[in-house]
Parts: sequence; structure tokens; C-alpha cells
Amino acid sequence: MNTAVGIGMTSARTRARMIDRLRERGIRDERVLAALAAVPRHLFVEEALASRAYEDTALPLGSSQTISQPYVVARMIEILRAGGRELGKTLEIGAGCGYQASVLAELADEVYAVERIGVLVERARLNLRRAGQLKVRLQYADGQFGLPEAAPFDTIILAAATPQLPPALLSQLAPGGRMILPLGASEQHLSLIERRPEGFVESRLDDVRFVPLRQGVE
Ligand code: SAH
Repeated sequence: MNTAVGIGMTSARTRARMIDRLRERGIRDERVLAALAAVPRHLFVEEALASRAYEDTALPLGSSQTISQPYVVARMIEILRAGGRELGKTLEIGAGCGYQASVLAELADEVYAVERIGVLVERARLNLRRAGQLKVRLQYADGQFGLPEAAPFDTIILAAATPQLPPALLSQLAPGGRMILPLGASEQHLSLIERRPEGFVESRLDDVRFVPLRQGVE
């Protein structure tokens, strides 16, 4: 079996091509591009799909969930960092296979990631370990309640869409903190929430398509 060797040899080149495409699509933050270039995405997708790992598409990861498209990961993180802001202590809701958490870990001091599907938590743990990413703290829980024991967070990022802002997540945002999420149901857009001294300020951004935020754990 020399599959792993084959992927190893091509991954640097295909990864570089993926970064070129992200640039073409308008991602400008060099630190975000470097973070995506540093994460071995092929370790986070199912083996049968590893050859497609650096295409700029969402791919299935089992349990009816998908690994996020690199462009969307890059775009959301670029928005969070706009104005040269550091991510600081970061919470991701909807860790899936751990890919985006791994990208966040390249940029943030501390990364907490929550996932509600047990088999995905196990897979994410394994993937993160194989990728040598030991910084991410994974929690098996319903992320709509955030992670009160670790709050407040400078950054919160949701990888699943919700029609309303989850109040627990708003309350766990530190002063000056930012949260980005796909807002909506059949029609969704990215929404950026900033916690300013005068209150929460919301900006409406790109139209997107994410899996829904669900209740409870399984
Ligand atoms: N961040 C992943 C994308 C995973 S897709 C990546 O990097 O590829 C979105 C994930 O959100 C799914 O795994 C889904 O199970 C999870 N999810 C949905 N509702 C959730 C909830 N209430 N709490 C935690 N995770 C949730």
C-alpha cells in the first residue's frame, strides 16, 4: 500500500493550489491563508475522499454532516480578524471532524470546540492527534448552550445554522468580542455580532448554506 506516500507527495502541491484559489476568490489575510496552508486537510476527510481533500468544496464526513469548504472557513475567519484583530480565546460550535478547529488553532491562543454527535467527536479527536494538533479542547455537548465553564470567549464561530441568535452564546462573548454564524433556515446569511460598550452590533454578510444547528446530543 503506497496510498499514504502518494498523498504525501501530492499534498504540498495540491495544498498550494488550494491557497491560490482562495486568493483568486478574494481572501486577502495572509495569516488566514498561511493557517489553511498549514493544516493537512486530507487527514480530516474519509480515506476514500483524501485525493479530493484540497478541492475547494464541502465533502461528506459521515453522520449526514459535511467538512466545511475551505473558502467558507477562510472567509469566516478573515471577517473575525478584520482590522488586524487577534482571535484570542476561541470557541467553535459544530466541530465535525475537527478541520476548522485545526485551522483556528493555527491562529488562536486557545481553542475550544463543541460537537453534539459522539462518533464525530471521536473521529475529530483522532484526526487532530494525527495532524499533531494538541491545542484544541474538544467537548461532546449541545453547543447551543456554549461552554459556560470556559467563558467568556473573545471569538465564537458557529459551523451550523440557526434561525435565531442563541442567547447563551451572546452572554459568553467577552466585551469587545466577535461572533460569526450562519443565520437563517432555508435561506441563510453570515452574521457578524460584535459586543461593544453600547451593546451588540450585528452586520449582515454573504449568503451561505450550512447544516442546521440541532438540539441535544446523539
Ligand atoms: N467545523 C466542521 C464542519 C462540521 S458541519 C469542519 O471543520 O468541517 C457542522 C457540525 O455542527 C456537524 O458536525 C453537526 O453535528 C454540528 N452541530 C449541529 N448542531 C450542533 C449543536 N447544537 N452543538 C454542537 N454541534 C452541533
